Amino acid sequence: MADSYDVIIVGGGITGASLLYMLSTYTNIGKVLLLEKYDSFATLNSNASNNAQTLHFGDIETNYSIEKAKETKEEAEIVLRYLNLLPRKEYDSITKKCQKMVLGVGDDEVERIEKIYESEIKSIFPGLKKMNAVEISKYEPNVTKKRSVEEEISALKSDNGQMVNFRNLTQSFIKRAKIKKNSSARIKLNTKVTEIKEEGDRYIITANGNTYTAKFVAFCAGSYSLYFAKMLGYEKNLSVLCIGGNFYTSPNVLRGKVYRVQIGGIPFAAVHGDPDITNPKITRFGPTVTIYPELERRHPSTFFDYIKTFDFDIPTAASLRGILFDKDISRILWKNILYDMPVTGTGRFLKDEVNKIVPSLKISDIKLAPEMGGVRPQVIDENKRALVLGESKIKEHGLIFNITPSPGATSCLASAIEDTSYICDYIGAKLDIKAVERSLVDRDTMQITVRKLKNW
Ligand SMILES: Cc1cc2nc3c(=O)[nH]c(=O)nc-3n(C[C@H](O)[C@H](O)[C@H](O)COP(=O)(O)OP(=O)(O)OC[C@H]3O[C@@H](n4cnc5c(N)ncnc54)[C@H](O)[C@@H]3O)c2cc1C
Repeated sequence: MADSYDVIIVGGGITGASLLYMLSTYTNIGKVLLLEKYDSFATLNSNASNNAQTLHFGDIETNYSIEKAKETKEEAEIVLRYLNLLPRKEYDSITKKCQKMVLGVGDDEVERIEKIYESEIKSIFPGLKKMNAVEISKYEPNVTKKRSVEEEISALKSDNGQMVNFRNLTQSFIKRAKIKKNSSARIKLNTKVTEIKEEGDRYIITANGNTYTAKFVAFCAGSYSLYFAKMLGYEKNLSVLCIGGNFYTSPNVLRGKVYRVQIGGIPFAAVHGDPDITNPKITRFGPTVTIYPELERRHPSTFFDYIKTFDFDIPTAASLRGILFDKDISRILWKNILYDMPVTGTGRFLKDEVNKIVPSLKISDIKLAPEMGGVRPQVIDENKRALVLGESKIKEHGLIFNITPSPGATSCLASAIEDTSYICDYIGAKLDIKAVERSLVDRDTMQITVRKLKNW
């Protein structure tokens, strides 16, 4: 006999955990099951060592459009509202406030900083302050130390930076979902979903040889979400590039986050320098941009599933050609291939990236951290022949597939609220909107979020 549920969530990273929290806290849904294939939560991209630990707001992300910046700000504010509900000790184990800036190096980037500052961004983020080299040196002395006086720099700084240990945040969602009295949340670790099929108005899932049925299935399985969408015959026009990101570490040289100017519309941030929330003795530089033929980083066995998900055909080839021949993307990819070269790679990374942020660091100060860095599943839209910026959400009959490159950890709760609203509407359950408004969503200021919700 198959175990029967209202909703099954596949994946115990931050996306699945936040959805479990929302469903079990704010709805009357009877039975929810989360299936995770590894022995603990957030071991992949949501792990603190595998991402950049930034709660993105859209103020220093120069590759975002104004609309994306506004949306990201709302998403981050929802996470902040959740964090502010927590007891102090739990809050401190998850997050820490920090200063942050986006740094422009050289005439072109300085001009870009100027233009951004004069744009609408100031009205969205009134706390942003433009700084010249002298001002920068007060806040980040190592950014100016030993820098040539001929190299022009300028920055936009904010005091509202937030480092987040997304793994601890994931665990907080799980704990709060489970500790509720009469909780409907069930969790199975070490349970790998291998198959899904539709039968009547339910879905049958196979995992570890057992079967489970549900009215609704939400795939929060990172890059594997697209794999399962394709298993069910959906989204033939989508493919995925798994963009790995490596980090290098140095002794602690930065007080806060220092991002670099990125070209608009490029779906990944330029290399930045960040303090590490799990280890105050180091600074991390990264992530690099490397295409990996695997759905999960450091799991080579996922290569064969990657091939199936990639689903190579003529439209894929045409899209790849368009993407790889794009002037800006190909420049970034080639540059990063050189960083991966044995012997010379680290030196080049130091000169081209790290020294742009901290000029005084020497090759003996930095080292590649092979245990750090995950994979950003960057979706290719074969109709548009382009990479999709940010997260992709596919909604089908009784199904959601969340594919989550950066800033997918920041958008976890906004995504979970949208999914919860959709799921309740689909299965005829009740979402306690008033309770969500009291704790997480401000209807007046979070209009982009509210617009996405069904029957809100
Ligand atoms: C280098 C890098 C830097 C980043 N920096 C940031 C940042 O600073 N800020 C930010 O907001 N975002 C950042 N991101 C993005 C962020 O890390 C991800 O968007 C987020 O962690 C995705 O969470 P997830 O739960 O969707 O996926 P994951 O954390 O990958 O979790 C997916 C889960 O699904 C499980 N799963 C998969 N298949 C199955 C199956 N068949 N059966 C059962 N379980 C399954 C996996 O085991 C895993 O636990 C970064 C990403 C990378 C790679």
